[in-house]
Amino acid sequence: MTTDTASRTDELQRRWAGAMMDNYGTPALALSGGKGVTVTDVDGREYLDFFAGIAVSALGHAHPAIVEAVTRQVGQIAHTSNLVLHEPGVRLAERLQALLGRPDARVFFANDGTEANECAVKLSRLHGRAMDPSGNRLRIVSTENSFHGRTLGSLSVTGNAAKREPFEPLPGPVSFVPFGDVQALREAVDGTVSAVFLEPTQGEGGVVPAPAGYLRAARELCDATGVLLVIDEVQSGIGRTGHWFASLAAGVVPDVLTLAKGLGGGLPIGACIAFGDAAGLFGPGSHGSTFGGNPVSCASALAVIDTIESQGLLDNVTTTGAALEGGLRAIDNPLVATVRGSGLWWGVQLTSACAAAVESAARDRGVLVNAVKADVLRLAPPLIVSESQVAEAVRVLAEALDAVSAAQSEADQSQGNGLPA
Ligand SMILES: *Cc1c(COP(=O)(O)O)cnc(C)c1O
Repeated sequence: MTTDTASRTDELQRRWAGAMMDNYGTPALALSGGKGVTVTDVDGREYLDFFAGIAVSALGHAHPAIVEAVTRQVGQIAHTSNLVLHEPGVRLAERLQALLGRPDARVFFANDGTEANECAVKLSRLHGRAMDPSGNRLRIVSTENSFHGRTLGSLSVTGNAAKREPFEPLPGPVSFVPFGDVQALREAVDGTVSAVFLEPTQGEGGVVPAPAGYLRAARELCDATGVLLVIDEVQSGIGRTGHWFASLAAGVVPDVLTLAKGLGGGLPIGACIAFGDAAGLFGPGSHGSTFGGNPVSCASALAVIDTIESQGLLDNVTTTGAALEGGLRAIDNPLVATVRGSGLWWGVQLTSACAAAVESAARDRGVLVNAVKADVLRLAPPLIVSESQVAEAVRVLAEALDAVSAAQSEADQSQGNGLPA
């Protein structure tokens, strides 16, 4: 890099800081394009994208099926409002019913994950009120370390105090139990509870899969108590784990299932899907969204589902996911504590809070991964990734880890035995 010309990235970062709220901190990367699993930044550098815009870009970037579907739809009609129906929305809801194998499922389309969960919170309220009209059965049980979104309803069931507390008071009551602990769940679900909210794997929590049998135990508990089981598949759904739905793969059908991230393949859409009695809780006027499930996002989601099916991408997730797991497990570096996940969705638990440094070192070497927590890296490449791209990303990640651990031991030595000065 020359010193007299600031990069396009630098310039955009300055302008960003002068115009945007600081809720994200100024991002290190400014992207201008992408093709497949590769993205290009505004200075022309290319990266292998093992982050996919937070597990969103299921078909990678500029996939011809999405480009074609979105272009056609936007040229036809882009927006109708929800006072008017349109075929892409009906078709997408029917496709979801078919994938779920449940013609009794009913779908509400939102714009993103938090709105899908907001809808689930509202359904929980109606369910609790139907069970106990006195209003003493409105409690939601959620899990510690969970993430369900940033709007107040979804935030109220998010088990991360640092994200929640500045915005209290939040809707409630909500109880949080340790994730994966069946006994704690049993104790928390009493006669004041309307719904249980669970992720099959805690994504933002650091890619932490539920222990085997946990979702089934939750299903049995909810059946026995009449409590709604709400499964948040915003991150796990639509192929990420090698299955259309992680809950169904675990043998569990929720009462309410939420989707978003991968569903639109990069266009904004979320879905709240209810089964059985829960599917009938809303009546005309209960809930709404001006933009939710707009024809363009629905066309994109249909292209995503069609392509996953026609290209056999669930199988690709399983085979390339196994290669990714194997590659990550073979990394020999003292910074790596454990590797966990499934499909194309992996968390690398580090032994110290250096995930941001590893993310940055990998980016400098041309691979995007995500420091999902201070001590956890998340990998979530597009579902179209190839085995050679997996091998390349793992090689670069191992180099980045080596660079960070070398820098750390150098710093430790200069401080003497690694003890704080
Ligand atoms: C990302 C995420 C959300 C929130 O989705 P947004 O689209 O950011 O509102 C909710 N639940 C889970 C499990 C998520 O991963």
